[in-house]
Amino acid sequence: MAWGKKSRHERGYDYAWVKVREQVMERDYGLCQTCKRAGRTTLAYAVDHIVSKAKATVLRWTRAKMDHPSNLEAICKPCHEVKTEGEQGKKKRVRKVPGPDGWPSCPQAL
Ligand SMILES: [Zn+2]
Repeated sequence: MAWGKKSRHERGYDYAWVKVREQVMERDYGLCQTCKRAGRTTLAYAVDHIVSKAKATVLRWTRAKMDHPSNLEAICKPCHEVKTEGEQGKKKRVRKVPGPDGWPSCPQAL
């Protein structure tokens, strides 16, 4: 019984995630929302958490809340990499060698 519950939970989560991903992709027309806000049209390759899982955990969000379509949006690979880098950079406070002309720390601001 215990294993049945566990595997149902795990499979259920996977299935729910696949479904919610599809929903978000459809809602966002398969386009990267970060690019869209910047006036670009780019095909998304993934669905990303707006509030990252790490942050949502700190905020004590439930999984249902963090995986809710309102916290998800379609994103393209370059934007995802920039976002992930920013999140990790903030957490680890990795100091990148600053350029002589002081590049902005957020590449999205470019
Ligand atoms: Zn993008």
